[in-house]
Amino acid sequence: MTQAMKMSRLYAPTLKEDPAEAELASHKLMLRAGMIRKAASGLYSYLPLAWRTLRKIEAIVREEMDGIGAQECLLPILIPAEYWHESGRWDAYGPEMMRVTDRHGREFCLGPTHEEGFTDLIRNELKSYKQLPCTLYQIQDKFRDEMRPRFGLMRGREFIMKDAYSFSATQESLQVIYDDMKGAYARICERCGVHALPVAADSGEIGGDTSVEFMALADAGEAALVYCDDCGYAADEEAAVSTVAVSEGPGSGELERVYTPGLGTIEAVAEFFGFPENGTRKSLALIDGEGKPVVAIIPGDHELNEIKAGKAFGSFHLMTEEELNETGLHKGFIGPVNLPEGVRLVCDESLRASKSWTCGANEVDYHFTGACPGRDFEVDVWADLVTVREGDPCPHCGRPLKGARGIEVSQVFQLGTKYSEAMGATFVGEDGKERPLIMGCYGVGVSRTLSAVIEQHNDENGIIWPVQIAPYEVSVIALDKKGEAFDAASDLADKLAAEGIETVFDDRAERPGVKFADNDLMGFPYQIVVGKRGFKNGTAELKNRATGDREDVALDEVVAKVAALVRAERMPYAG
Ligand code: ATP
Ligand code: MG
Repeated sequence: MTQAMKMSRLYAPTLKEDPAEAELASHKLMLRAGMIRKAASGLYSYLPLAWRTLRKIEAIVREEMDGIGAQECLLPILIPAEYWHESGRWDAYGPEMMRVTDRHGREFCLGPTHEEGFTDLIRNELKSYKQLPCTLYQIQDKFRDEMRPRFGLMRGREFIMKDAYSFSATQESLQVIYDDMKGAYARICERCGVHALPVAADSGEIGGDTSVEFMALADAGEAALVYCDDCGYAADEEAAVSTVAVSEGPGSGELERVYTPGLGTIEAVAEFFGFPENGTRKSLALIDGEGKPVVAIIPGDHELNEIKAGKAFGSFHLMTEEELNETGLHKGFIGPVNLPEGVRLVCDESLRASKSWTCGANEVDYHFTGACPGRDFEVDVWADLVTVREGDPCPHCGRPLKGARGIEVSQVFQLGTKYSEAMGATFVGEDGKERPLIMGCYGVGVSRTLSAVIEQHNDENGIIWPVQIAPYEVSVIALDKKGEAFDAASDLADKLAAEGIETVFDDRAERPGVKFADNDLMGFPYQIVVGKRGFKNGTAELKNRATGDREDVALDEVVAKVAALVRAERMPYAG
């Protein structure tokens, strides 16, 4: 019969103090709760509590993968260099790839990802359209010699990944699998208790997306995101399409030259006119990738986005004082009207509809109000140039965007024929013609998901596990070291275990305060406290870790009650 785990036996060495090396809540709490220990930089041992949760995350991932018809396998971690030479990634991957040489001098890598491995696996045997589509996956340790391994399991050098690869005969088939994967990934997040947003990682040429990252919202996240609560739009701040709302500037709408002595900044100009910064126009002088001068104009309260500017201008730089002088521009007073000969004018899309700009007059100490594109100056190119931020209108529905930080927990990707062409993985179609397989790849950071869950579920006392992935669902805490009440607690724990509820019995000869602190730190969702006083009244105290609610429950009812609560929250595969 299944027994409750005795806390006195549980290998979970806790720490009283926050470890100095840890910055993030998840990293600190996993070390403090005795879940992980560092073996070397970016290499961690998973102790029993972490491993139990990881196996539950894996089980959820398996169910969801099997549910959409993907089949599990396991390939060697060591991958021969030849395959990577074929794909061209042996050199392209760089120092992140961990390389190994065997006794015969043959080169291998420790797989950082497995496109090459899987493409090689199938290339001689997945040869007919009749066998397609086919999706294979594995759950395995991956190795990446990250430049900055950090934040515990968040960015490790060895980490657990579920990686899947699909092989299709047609783009339509790939699209179906890709959409199924997106659905499965959303459910994996939900079932693990991770609040994540699907974020387009690129915008496909045919419309729609060809890669989506699932971003767990957390202040500790490395990515800055904007998202819309109303329509579900979400994007990386850098990549988000800008539709900044701009106000018109002051003045009558006629072009007016205004004396603005020494007012060379947006703040000063806005203050001078008593107008919001958004009603002014920021002019940036730069030299584009071809060495030609450009003036870029954006809303006064926004910033030029490096990535978007790179697309518009090539490898550009802001003009130096010397370059400004040579071009005949005046720092702080640059604008679109009366630009020196040969300077290209590129303006942000959001300004297109605006007819009254407040901007520099290309003359020291002067600004224009009421400058109107088409009437007072000509724009060479309109382009999306600025970084979107919280409060800007959603490009899909126009409601204000929210800002958040995110942790990438998983990603789906349409690969097309990149690897199949490079490695000769072809199939024969219904028409008898040979073509390269159309591939997709799909990765879940299993160990990173563990970090993300804890980032989203903790308080000052420790971890707050969602039931479905808690290392143990219930802990029974005996306040006494022995005696009737202790025996009753032990009995409850074993009854719960016999019911199939994963239970820890805190049997340690510790003070109650220590026990409460450890059980909260380890985050068991339901805690049943049995002491002498309650025992006399025939009750135990039931505590809900997430809400902090406590109630007295009759000793002979508590097992059924807690078992029902746990079962209701387990969230099985919905198919
Ligand atoms: P990142 O941008 O964070 O480096 P990535 O985009 O390079 O990640 P992928 O190649 O998409 O990562 O790998 C699939 C998943 O594996 C990621 O979504 C992430 O959850 C996880 N992952 C990637 N690198 C690491 C790492 N160093 N430690 C832990 N998990 C990782
Ligand atoms: Mg990724």
